[in-house]
Amino acid sequence: MNVYKALTIAGSDSGGGAGIQADLKTFQELGVYGMSALTAVTAQNTLGVQGVYPLDTEAVARQLDSIGEDLTPDAVKTGMLFSGEIIRTAAGKIRQYGWDNLVVDPVMVAKGGSSLLQREAVQSLIQHLLPLALVTTPNIPEAEIIAEMTIASLTDCEEAARRIAQMGSRYVVVKGGHGSGNGAVRDVMYDGKNFVYMESPRIDTLHTHGTGCTYSAALTAELAKGQSAEEAVRTAKAFIRAAIEDGLGIGAGHGPTNHFA
Ligand code: PLP
Repeated sequence: MNVYKALTIAGSDSGGGAGIQADLKTFQELGVYGMSALTAVTAQNTLGVQGVYPLDTEAVARQLDSIGEDLTPDAVKTGMLFSGEIIRTAAGKIRQYGWDNLVVDPVMVAKGGSSLLQREAVQSLIQHLLPLALVTTPNIPEAEIIAEMTIASLTDCEEAARRIAQMGSRYVVVKGGHGSGNGAVRDVMYDGKNFVYMESPRIDTLHTHGTGCTYSAALTAELAKGQSAEEAVRTAKAFIRAAIEDGLGIGAGHGPTNHFA
């Protein structure tokens, strides 16, 4: 039996809809063995984030060493990294162990407004992590911060993708879900030369908590199985569309997507 292994370096969501929990559930549903290195613990439910508790960099480094000394992941993703020092620690270990197939989900702010990345850490992300990335998957607000521009059109999405690719990410996917309007959601994928556009209908629902985490986890799982970046992005898009369409409807607030395949 061929076992594919994926690693997530991310924060815990006690409510189970986002973060490490969403990643591991998604890996499992897509037939990939999941591993995790925790960066922070959040106290969280569908109503919002009640607490954020980052781990020491020593704890982050030790988890990554434990994995690196014994288990080689076929693909790796990063999610909530919280601080510049955690970013530098994670990037150093990714380089040390030569892990490729890296998906960087530049998590910054939870939908309720809580900060999951300190503002001053954005430069560390750009300097240390993006050059290691195979695919970076910002949503529109994240792409605006990284690329230092306002995005109001498809042309702007393309320009932001270009700028982020210049920072070292081999592929960039700017996800259109946070765009305005009732029309289709259009994601833009850039490989440094050409653009690919992926459209899906906008789904009217409150239950989108953990969407970005689940999408990037599905992409990581498919890369672990050996799909090309474009194939993996297409499979992840189909997975997240179904996950949003079939929302579980649990919790009194902003509920999770459906991770069941
Ligand atoms: N909590 C953690 C630990 C996360 O990693 C993320 C994801 O990006 C979120 C919360 C964000 O959740 P939401 O989809 O509600 O913005």
